[in-house]
Amino acid sequence: MTKDYDAIVIGTGIIGTCTGFELAKRGFKTLNVDKLPAAGYGSTSNTCAIIRLHYSTPAGVAMARESYFYWIDWGKYIGAYDESGYAKYINTGCLVTKTEKNHYLANVMASLDELNVVYEELDAEGMRRRLGLIDTRAYGPPVAAADPGFGKPTGDDVAGAVYIPESGYINDPQLSCHNVQRGCEAIGGEFRFNAEVVEILQESGRTEGVRLADGSEIRAPVVVNVGGPHSFVINRMAGVEEGMNIKTRALKQEVCHVPAPEGIDYNALGMLISDGDVGCYSRPEVGNHILIGSEDPPCDDFEWVADPDNYDNTFSGQWQTQVMREAQRLQGLPIPETQQGLVDLYDVSDDWIPIYDKSDLPGFYMAVGTSGNQYKNGPVAGQLMAHLIERVEGGHDHDAEPLQFHMKYVDRDCDVGFFSRLRTINPDSSFSVIG
Ligand SMILES: Cc1cc2nc3c(=O)[nH]c(=O)nc-3n(C[C@H](O)[C@H](O)[C@H](O)COP(=O)(O)OP(=O)(O)OC[C@H]3O[C@@H](n4cnc5c(N)ncnc54)[C@H](O)[C@@H]3O)c2cc1C
Repeated sequence: MTKDYDAIVIGTGIIGTCTGFELAKRGFKTLNVDKLPAAGYGSTSNTCAIIRLHYSTPAGVAMARESYFYWIDWGKYIGAYDESGYAKYINTGCLVTKTEKNHYLANVMASLDELNVVYEELDAEGMRRRLGLIDTRAYGPPVAAADPGFGKPTGDDVAGAVYIPESGYINDPQLSCHNVQRGCEAIGGEFRFNAEVVEILQESGRTEGVRLADGSEIRAPVVVNVGGPHSFVINRMAGVEEGMNIKTRALKQEVCHVPAPEGIDYNALGMLISDGDVGCYSRPEVGNHILIGSEDPPCDDFEWVADPDNYDNTFSGQWQTQVMREAQRLQGLPIPETQQGLVDLYDVSDDWIPIYDKSDLPGFYMAVGTSGNQYKNGPVAGQLMAHLIERVEGGHDHDAEPLQFHMKYVDRDCDVGFFSRLRTINPDSSFSVIG
């Protein structure tokens, strides 16, 4: 086969750009293609970009912890000049509420301990000391807005919280993708925009490249699907969905931006709050605003989207429900008439855990199903994918003998098989954005 590149990566979000970058570092001649006009214009542009360390398994904490070291030293990871400047990590700390559903954070604390991540356990009084405007009464478990119990306390104080001082967010996720693009280009990687892949070329049972919407063909023995909420469309193009035990689909999400309570400088005093008791997460947003997302409580209707290029991307009643839920916790939070924020899609796998894997079609790989919580893991996901591709292309049978990937800062192996497309549904998942 004649080839134009060693690998084509479909997508230039955070995981697509990092995958291209890490392959280029390993000597692959790479091309990232995207149907949009610039890097990070897909779902990454609308991510809340929360960088948190709390997960309920040591493996989850380890991956987030490893990535954290890249975010806090971002310019050094990129290693190249970017005329647009660099994305910045803003540290805020994170308050996570204890609930019965999260087992009062017992697993989270044990996992943080295993990775030596510092945290503070707080009772309700301690929570109020951390954030003066907080209402510590219990409201959970969350109910739908139409429920007569909505907004009414269900008990005295919540069971307490854990405060993790090393947590925050990235101020400009789209810029972070541009940064990775510049880093990748500096070592020979190429990018093509306004280039929609419409077919995965195949020859003798192997990937051969892609065909674009303008009819042109690009040849490469490796093609990687990092299409975000379009991941299932691309997997169907390649004909690999049938061979996957875990599949992906797109889910509508609404994120609210509201002004901070009057007289509060939330950019200075606020923090990430992950609050299963009211069913929301929140963080400070520029302009003294508060950003509010949903933790997807089971009482809410999920709006699955059949066509990610054609769906209702306007706010629904969910917007107001989320703001009212957060107002249960943050005293004085206004509920504005005008709805501000954004609507986008999660790429959700059947158990809300990503798929970082090969496929049944030799040469075709996927980093998909990132389910609302993998922006933070972009740099590590890119390395994991490059390691996987290099080893499988070198002859390793990853399905039979799952690869391990060494994370250098936490000095720990990541079991790549955990992310297999062939796994059975993981019953320990939260089946939500929490992961
Ligand atoms: C509302 C929201 C909030 C989130 N909040 C957080 C958070 O706080 N913290 C966190 O860690 N994660 C969060 N996430 C998840 C995180 O944003 C994603 O996991 C991550 O951005 C996915 O990056 P990606 O590169 O895989 O995909 P994307 O950024 O979606 O990129 C995929 C790209 O593929 C391109 N593409 C698709 N089909 C084709 C085709 N046929 N041809 C060419 N190009 C194609 C698209 O144009 C797009 O640019 C959130 C996600 C959303 C939607």
